[in-house]
Amino acid sequence: MVTDLKIKISKQRSPILPLLIFAWILVVCFVSVDYYKESRFNEQLIDTYLYQFNLRVADAHRDGRNVANLVKNTYFGEDRVGLSIFDSEGNSVWSSTIEEVPTHLAMQMRPECVNALAEGRSYAIRSGSGDKDLSYIYSATLVDDTIYCSSLPYDTSAFVVLESEEVFILFIVGITLLMSIIGILMMKRFQHSVKALEYEHEQAMHLESEKTRLKKQLTNNINHELKTPISAIHGYLETILMNPTIDEKTRQNFIEKSFDHSNRVIGLLKDVSEITKMEEAEVAYEMSELNIKAMVDEIIENASLEIKDKSVRVATLVKSDVIIEGNKYLVHSIFGNLLDNSVAYSGARDISISAQRSGDYYEFKVMDNGIGIDEKHIPHLFERFYRVDTGRSRKIGGTGLGLSIVKNAVQLHGGTIFVTNRARGGLEFKFTLRIKNSKL
Ligand code: ADP
Repeated sequence: MVTDLKIKISKQRSPILPLLIFAWILVVCFVSVDYYKESRFNEQLIDTYLYQFNLRVADAHRDGRNVANLVKNTYFGEDRVGLSIFDSEGNSVWSSTIEEVPTHLAMQMRPECVNALAEGRSYAIRSGSGDKDLSYIYSATLVDDTIYCSSLPYDTSAFVVLESEEVFILFIVGITLLMSIIGILMMKRFQHSVKALEYEHEQAMHLESEKTRLKKQLTNNINHELKTPISAIHGYLETILMNPTIDEKTRQNFIEKSFDHSNRVIGLLKDVSEITKMEEAEVAYEMSELNIKAMVDEIIENASLEIKDKSVRVATLVKSDVIIEGNKYLVHSIFGNLLDNSVAYSGARDISISAQRSGDYYEFKVMDNGIGIDEKHIPHLFERFYRVDTGRSRKIGGTGLGLSIVKNAVQLHGGTIFVTNRARGGLEFKFTLRIKNSKL
């Protein structure tokens, strides 16, 4: 199911990119059409000016006036306007420029003049005979078997052609650019949330498989752990039953041993049920304000017999105003297990429990000055069923589940836990519990 979800998420593509591409295609189309329309309009306008100029030149030419004066005095500017006059045979009659080709061929090189001969007037845009980089608009007019062809430089660049539309085009491009920036930002956010979702699902998948693995491991371990005491109980009871004449002392010894093993089974079942409960994500733990000093005092009171037995001094350095929000049952199991362990395993003279506030958390320390633990065991200490000295621990009655219960409980409260050997001997458990914790 989780895999399906992941595939679904990965298939999510942002619709913004195609929209942006579409918007820019529209802008390009719009500008191109506008450019085409504007250039046609400009060409026709200039052609009209040049046509009128040609007619004036024709008048002057027919009247025998000096054509050069007209070119000189034109409002287009003397150095801009060019003029060539051809007879109907195509021979050059007059030209303001020096033709590079023989005068009788000059007209053949000008398609607008050839067209004008047939149609009366025509214009064309092409590079000039002088400066090949410059474009010119040539306008040819046929008057009385004579062709008058005038020219003006013509800039075909989009900036010049679209000059009159500049503000409008800038507005459209600006709006599209703004839309693109907003779109890209939204796309980034979208991709970011898709990535976050993917990551969350990956985590969920990992958690799910890890849970399954741990559950399987737990079942195997429980079977294994139960086998030893149950077989032992079975063996002792079988011996007693099969040997009715067994002496009283041996019988008593076997019954006591069976009792010890049954205690071990009870302890194991208790720990396992505690762990299973913690793992049920559906279980909503009841939260309340917990006074840690009161809780620790109660735990010490309950363990007072053992504490006395081992001649250990337990110092509670937790102030009475240390209040956290947590589950009574879980927090009790944290302090209870750590204290029990220190009393049972460390061989310490002194045990201390302290609390220090650090932001939203209280940092608690449970320390003893006992034997500590070989460094090689430290990374495994919170693993289920992990016992440092298997023989010794089993004798004491541990299941190897205590510290894993503690770690689970701390994590369920959003805290962290670490264990270290103290410089002067003994263990130090350091863990955090949130002062206010709304989710559990
Ligand atoms: P159990 O449930 O059997 O008590 P735990 O998970 O609580 O097991 O502890 C794991 C092992 O860590 C124990 O077998 C014990 O040897 C060791 N241990 C735990 N606390 C201490 C301590 N304060 N000092 C020395 N050894 C400890």
